[in-house]
Amino acid sequence: MKKLEQLYEGKAKKVFRTENPAYLIVAYKDDATAFNGEKKGTIQGKGAINNRMTNLLMQMLEQQGIPTHFVKELSDRETVVKAVTIVPLEVIVRNISAGHFAQNYGVAEGIVFDQPTIEFSYKNDALGDPLINSYHARALKLATQEEIDTIVSLSFRINQALQAFFQKVGIILVDFKLEFGRLADGTIVLADEISPDTCRFWDQATGEKLDKDRFRRDLGHVEEAYEEVMRRLTGAQG
Ligand code: UDP
Repeated sequence: MKKLEQLYEGKAKKVFRTENPAYLIVAYKDDATAFNGEKKGTIQGKGAINNRMTNLLMQMLEQQGIPTHFVKELSDRETVVKAVTIVPLEVIVRNISAGHFAQNYGVAEGIVFDQPTIEFSYKNDALGDPLINSYHARALKLATQEEIDTIVSLSFRINQALQAFFQKVGIILVDFKLEFGRLADGTIVLADEISPDTCRFWDQATGEKLDKDRFRRDLGHVEEAYEEVMRRLTGAQG
């Protein structure tokens, strides 16, 4: 499949048109941003890791009956995906308190929840991705109730699958962000990426952070953390 003109450039990825309107090509960059774009940097090799990790996880999810936009990995950094219109919601699932949950509600990081939580942010950079509930999402016509129900149910299934997968390689899945899209026929599928940019991963044995918090909080060894997660996942593939 050939890459035609660039349609869009985001913070971590570029999106290109192909000859087939049903398919797009995404190209992952090494650029990293945090705090709504205030902090900028580069994480060497991140694009290739996030591309391969996302594809591996999406294929695992597909095997478990979760529809995704994944089509085919083209190269280290490039993947063919189904063209979708993105539902402008960031869906955050949490198993353990961290990040904004700890900050907003005044609790320590590391509290293990009895049940996972789910929340939505309105995907809007100018507004700083404000937290909204499903009533707001419907009022803003971001999604229908039926779509929201599908998104919630898929997100919890994805959480179960990912938690089990990462547990096998000694990684605790603390929280993560998902994005969903609509195919031309309206089917909701998982889109975007699943990577150390969008998940919090803690080493089961040491509690060490193996994700973008190392960049956000200037903890050092950022590249090594991304590589370590990838190494464990490919090891698990046998
Ligand atoms: N997250 C993300 N993109 C965002 C906001 C959050 O991928 O724009 C991910 C983040 O990496 C973490 C989870 O969603 O795994 C929960 O993030 P939180 O709401 O705690 O915000 P943060 O502290 O990451 O800004």
